[in-house]
Amino acid sequence: MPRQLLKADFFWPLATLGLVAIAVLVALVLSLVHQFDSLSREREQALVANGLTGITSEIAHRVVPQTVWDEAVRNLDNRFDPVWASENIGQYLSQTNGFDTSFVLDAGDRAIFAADGPKAVDASAFEAFAPATAGVIASVRTQESARALVNQRRSTPGQIPGPIQASSIAKVNGRLYIVSATLVQSDFGYARPKGPKAPIVVTGMELGQPFLKQFSERFMLTNLHVHGDDSRSDKQQAHIPLRALSGEYLATLDWEPQTPGETMLGQVGGPILIIVGLLSLAALMLYRRVSGMAQSLLASEARATHLAYFDPLTGLPNRTRFQERLDYALDHLRRDHEATVAVHSIDLDRFKEINDLHGHQVGDQLIKLAARRLAAVCRSTDTFARFGADEFAIVQANATAAQAAALADRLIEAMTAPFYLETIRSFIGCSIGITMITDGDVDPGEAIRQADMALTRARADGGSRFCFFEIEMDAAVKTRRSLEIDLREALAAGALEMAYQPQVNHRGVMTGVEALVRWRHPIRGSISPEYFVPIAEECGLISELGLFTIARAFQDSRRWKGLKVAINVSAIQLRTPGFVTAVSTLVSRLRVDPRRFELEITETVLIGDDPETHETLKRLRDLGFSLALDDFGTGYSSLSYLKRFPISKIKIDRSFIANLGIDDEADAVVGAIIRLARALKLNVIAEGVETSEQRDRLAAAGCSEIQGYLFSKPVSAADIEALRAAPTPMRTARAAA
Ligand code: C2E
Ligand code: MG
Ligand code: MG
Repeated sequence: MPRQLLKADFFWPLATLGLVAIAVLVALVLSLVHQFDSLSREREQALVANGLTGITSEIAHRVVPQTVWDEAVRNLDNRFDPVWASENIGQYLSQTNGFDTSFVLDAGDRAIFAADGPKAVDASAFEAFAPATAGVIASVRTQESARALVNQRRSTPGQIPGPIQASSIAKVNGRLYIVSATLVQSDFGYARPKGPKAPIVVTGMELGQPFLKQFSERFMLTNLHVHGDDSRSDKQQAHIPLRALSGEYLATLDWEPQTPGETMLGQVGGPILIIVGLLSLAALMLYRRVSGMAQSLLASEARATHLAYFDPLTGLPNRTRFQERLDYALDHLRRDHEATVAVHSIDLDRFKEINDLHGHQVGDQLIKLAARRLAAVCRSTDTFARFGADEFAIVQANATAAQAAALADRLIEAMTAPFYLETIRSFIGCSIGITMITDGDVDPGEAIRQADMALTRARADGGSRFCFFEIEMDAAVKTRRSLEIDLREALAAGALEMAYQPQVNHRGVMTGVEALVRWRHPIRGSISPEYFVPIAEECGLISELGLFTIARAFQDSRRWKGLKVAINVSAIQLRTPGFVTAVSTLVSRLRVDPRRFELEITETVLIGDDPETHETLKRLRDLGFSLALDDFGTGYSSLSYLKRFPISKIKIDRSFIANLGIDDEADAVVGAIIRLARALKLNVIAEGVETSEQRDRLAAAGCSEIQGYLFSKPVSAADIEALRAAPTPMRTARAAA
């Protein structure tokens, strides 16, 4: 794709530009050459035309010595001497000056002498020349009349007059001639003409091969020749028309002109071609280089774009892409007020456990399989995305609530089927929060937030279910937000308090207390740690809260000699880096004996069986703390944990105690837990004991240590002392909180 894009966008325009540039350059050079050559041809033509005119009059001028001569006046005008004429006109002009033919005309323009070459012939031979020479003869006569008026009277002997003559090119019997007519005149004025008109000597020199040869040599012309068809002339040939004196077209003289442009092109064309070739090569190399760079740029851009919009693990769109699609769907809502859009927020139910238990590789595999199932369930019009770890989302365009619920049902069903991961068969399930959007002006972030809130409810309700967003949820979330802020302030202000709940043996003697944190909110009143401890965990306050309670328990413990003090430590708190160090610092600072303290952890701490947890628990035990497993029976209740971790006590969850005597199963579970504890040589305590019946059943099953309202609710540190002092605590069952 990028390569094609590049070719279309980059190569062809560039190549076209290059070709056009070369074509323009070539056209420019050729046009210059052509202009140069035609300019040179025009100059040559002008030169040849002038030269021809010059030669014509030059040839005519050769007659002058024989005609502007007193002897000629005497022998041709005063009286006609045919012998003189034959020697001095016919023979002389032919042999000395190369004329082909010569005539003498009398004052009335009648031929009185004719010579063909040197040989005198009958004067009637002139008849053939008469039409062709009429023009030059008339011109001579006109000049003669004009001269007669002005000059002849003034002419004095010893002053040679200028010749009166005319010449032109003429055609006689299909042959071209340079013809001339020259008036017979006196040179020194010793001979006078007998009448007002003098004889005329007419000559003809054929424009034949000898003439053309001479002419070519003189003007350095190549391939000079004459032809009678002007239109035949090649455009590239140089040519001039030959015309009679009257202007009548006679023939064309053409030759090969010199072509300095072409010659120059011949000399520089090669080098120019080489330069153009080299430049093209350089351009091509540059192009390849640039296109290589552009391609890698495009590729990295494509990669970046993909990373920016798609999740690398599953290839599904990510949050950014999802928001874009959601934007698009909302935009559609603004135009179509009937439509609704469902936004689903999906969370895999037991992903974290699987990930912790079997490692990230298995976790990744699970995510990929889940993504595939998600894709299989969705329609082509739905947009689904992965937001993070095990969070997915769907935009279901044009969906009714019923359709959204149907999709959620299908999804839950798909995710409930077992996943086969390497050698493990896992049951995951998923929880879904759905919000129905009917208003296109809702912010996409708000839509996702609403779906997330509904998801939280679905999870809180036990998972593997879906839940639609309701306005009240929003209020709950907002309350939680404000509680976060208040908790931060309460911690900073030291406004939290501690309560202690006694733990007693079978004789009702107090053996220990459990430290429980209390928060009396200025407006909302007393808030359960079951509610605010998770808030502290989520907003990063758990370390501070945890250390506060431990420090207070350490301090208060000094009041009760011989009592064990149990302190609750949440999983996140335990995994916070620096926890053990912080605790041991408190031990030294407050100078307490860790052997008096029991840390209550839940099974979630042990899930994953990771080396860090082992290390933390080992270090705590090495400091002297003992460890109790709280809420036992609600989680995995795994035997292997009990064996592998340094646990010394298990605490039966109060939900089983509440059902003792009501539900046989509860009795059975409690009995089993107690037997298990014994077998593993672990201490066992029951929490939430409210009635003497519960106490008795527990005692019968072998659990002597109990904690619960039966003996006492959690009370202040001061009240613990009072309780210890009371003679028969079990019966008085005091209630204080
Ligand atoms: P938990 O560790 O299982 O604590 C026992 C809970 O059961 C206490 O609730 C206690 O008041 C309640 N309880 C005791 N006897 C009875 C009884 O006879 N009947 C009934 N229905 N309930 C009884 P509380 O104080 O609300 O604590 C709830 C949970 O909050 C605790 O459960 C513990 O997990 C957590 N928690 C309390 N204090 C702290 C603390 O300082 N740090 C941490 N990390 N967690 C704490
Ligand atoms: Mg506890
Ligand atoms: Mg408990």
